[in-house]
Amino acid sequence: MIAVRPAPRQGRPRRYLKPGNGRRVVADTQGVENMATKEERRAKVVEVLNKARAMELQAIHQYMSHHYALDDMDYGELAAKMKLIAIDEMRHAESFAERIKELGGEPTVTKAEPVVTGQNIREIYPHDTEEEDVTIDTYNQFLLVCRDNGDSVSVKLFEQIIEDEQAHYNYFDAIRDHIENLGDTYLSRIAGTPSSTGLAPQGFVITNQE
Ligand code: FE
Ligand code: FE
Repeated sequence: MIAVRPAPRQGRPRRYLKPGNGRRVVADTQGVENMATKEERRAKVVEVLNKARAMELQAIHQYMSHHYALDDMDYGELAAKMKLIAIDEMRHAESFAERIKELGGEPTVTKAEPVVTGQNIREIYPHDTEEEDVTIDTYNQFLLVCRDNGDSVSVKLFEQIIEDEQAHYNYFDAIRDHIENLGDTYLSRIAGTPSSTGLAPQGFVITNQE
């Protein structure tokens, strides 16, 4: 925009800070009018944080259900890993809640979708791989909402959690692959293995870093 020098006024002081008293101030005011308020921006961030939290609440219950199912089928090693992943999702749900509270919002207690039950082992891993894939894609979209609304702390939170979801995806996809390609040969190696995760398990991602 070309700056236009205001016409010199005589006899009264310039009042630059009052809207409507000069071109520069009018232009600034128009910019502010188009910009969302702090409260509006926070509300948008809280909305996506709560959608993500609802997805985490669903994932916790989904993976706990798969944990019981795998334990019941005596695939101990797979059951143990599933339990650790459910613990990661609990940590995610908690982290989103903490950030929502920091922003003055109210964390949801309602899960996003119903839990799918009654799946056999050949259905569980394709299902959970897809669930993580959708989560990664959705959280990347939510991250952009946080960035667009200027919340760098929530952007970082999404970045950290997306990394965990990627680790879950990689693990589920590998097991899905083994079952698909090796079938009973793979499953017979897993049958009867211990399902213990030890006292005070730390979750999948932390355990795998040790
Ligand atoms: Fe998660
Ligand atoms: Fe996950």
